[in-house]
Amino acid sequence: MAMRMSSLFLRTLRENPADAEVPSHQLLVRAGYIRRVSPGIYTWLPLGLKVLRRVEEIVREEMDAIGAQELLFPALLPREPYEATGRWTEYGPNVFRLKDRKEGDYLLGPTHEEMFTLAVKDMYSSYKDLPVSLYQIQTKYRDEARPRAGILRGREFVMKDSYSFDIDEAGLDKSYQLHRDAYVRIFDRLGFHYVIVQAMAGAMGGSKSEEFLATADNGEDTYVRCPNCAYAANVEAVQVAAPEVTDAATAPPAHDEATPDAATIATLVDRLNELVPGTSPHGGPWAATDTLKTVVVMLVHPDGTREPLAMGIPGDREVDEKRLGAQVDPARVEAFEEKDFAAYPTLVKGYMGPRALGSASASGIRFLVDPRVVDGTRWVAGGNAPGVHTVDLVAGRDFVADGVIEAAEVRPGDPCPSCGTGLEAARGIEMGHIFQLGTKYAEALDLKVLDESGKLRTVIMGSYGVGVSRAVACIAEGNHDELGLLWPRNISPADVHLVATGKDRTRAPQVFETAEVLTRELEAAGLTVLLDDREKVSPGVKFKDSELIGVPTIVVVGKSLENGVIEIKDRRSGERREVPVAEAVAELVAEVRG
Ligand code: ATP
Ligand code: MG
Repeated sequence: MAMRMSSLFLRTLRENPADAEVPSHQLLVRAGYIRRVSPGIYTWLPLGLKVLRRVEEIVREEMDAIGAQELLFPALLPREPYEATGRWTEYGPNVFRLKDRKEGDYLLGPTHEEMFTLAVKDMYSSYKDLPVSLYQIQTKYRDEARPRAGILRGREFVMKDSYSFDIDEAGLDKSYQLHRDAYVRIFDRLGFHYVIVQAMAGAMGGSKSEEFLATADNGEDTYVRCPNCAYAANVEAVQVAAPEVTDAATAPPAHDEATPDAATIATLVDRLNELVPGTSPHGGPWAATDTLKTVVVMLVHPDGTREPLAMGIPGDREVDEKRLGAQVDPARVEAFEEKDFAAYPTLVKGYMGPRALGSASASGIRFLVDPRVVDGTRWVAGGNAPGVHTVDLVAGRDFVADGVIEAAEVRPGDPCPSCGTGLEAARGIEMGHIFQLGTKYAEALDLKVLDESGKLRTVIMGSYGVGVSRAVACIAEGNHDELGLLWPRNISPADVHLVATGKDRTRAPQVFETAEVLTRELEAAGLTVLLDDREKVSPGVKFKDSELIGVPTIVVVGKSLENGVIEIKDRRSGERREVPVAEAVAELVAEVRG
């Protein structure tokens, strides 16, 4: 059945909604696809729902094609399984929690690992049942700290999530590859410009982890890629190559220098060049890269406990909040405040240095260093007294860190970890994430099957997500102009937007009648039609709406009917051509089927 604008549940808006900053959000609201209920919570109006369903269908077809089976879990879930895996606590404020009338704890599923794992445990017990891949297309709930850009980052959103279950690593590799290939087909069909980048692997068991990022200048994810080799990674996942150590054995003993008024790295470097010229590790003038700055933050663990964390970072770099966040997840990072300094009097603000840090030190504060701080490297750092810095401080000799942390910013031009060429940076939107989960959930929930020799083996899982509702926003983001949306053909809410431009049925009976006939014939030929059959609406308004709504082919039935022709307009190129009425259906079918 054609959608008729005369009765379609739709109101287009000429003005951008006040809270909408990115084009996809503005246009999806203005063109009547979605409507805000509350921050990060949106209603899908009829046109929007059509688009969402088309995206779902593409995802579904490709998942079915690799033999994955669709099921549907509830969104309302009991606490116990999430308690068993630790995620009831780990999720912290990101999960929506509620109680039933008997005071039992429930949550709205932010993701369903526990449910999939338990379902397989419930029904399968032998290696003969494996491999199996299961998926659902379902509404997820996350109380995001910063819901953004309409449905791009919602608090209620639609995700396709699938899980593979295998008896061994080789099986997992195969399931992973099948999903990866399916994702390539999905994102190709959705018309994205995308990159596949290395991503953070989970804390336990997981090994391979990749994200599909739609390239977008206003994307929230930053990734780097190597112009020379195949390396591409989300900055969160970049692993800095440790440098070779050259002068460890010959390094002079550490010595303190008075460096008053050297509160910044730049002033410190100037002071070093006056005080101890020509003694830098590389022989050249002192530089910011020779200094090691100490950054201290407060970690808040999911159970609420607070733990200070100190980091030693090369002085020329800032800490990257996202990289740090990904490293300490599920803990949150908060600023280290005056009262925290008061609680740790060994920390001298502005002059903290490695010798006062580390679990073996007086402060007992965990101290992690950048991968560039390998044993034998020589640094200048705070001297743990006001106005003092320590020079020729050698890692491993003068201080011992508790470990390494990838928290320093990654910059364009930094060497590629795999070939050394300068990296390039760009931005994107995470559309999909595939990773090898390993045995984390199977172990926590005791999912084991009997193997060939009758021994119980823990099942190995993979986890694969697609942001289905996010895809709608992302496609809109990449397909619009100043007039409105420009849907790719296979996503558009209709194949043809047919506009009847006569004033009303009495004054332009032929226009309306022809539009009706064409609509019937197009539908009989299998096309979907959005028919603008509104009476007493000016042609100008109808054209504006058709441009805003963004169906790729617009047909105008109007004045030119006197000459026996209608007009076919390509929304994307703006090209128009006149076609005899008698040939219109054949022309349009050919155009739409391409
Ligand atoms: P992000 O880093 O963007 O918060 P995530 O890594 O937490 O996402 P996953 O748990 O990997 O997300 O979820 C799988 C997919 O679901 C993501 O790749 C993304 O496309 C989509 N998604 C995640 N969170 C949201 C959200 N709040 N709104 C819409 N889509 C989302
Ligand atoms: Mg992810």
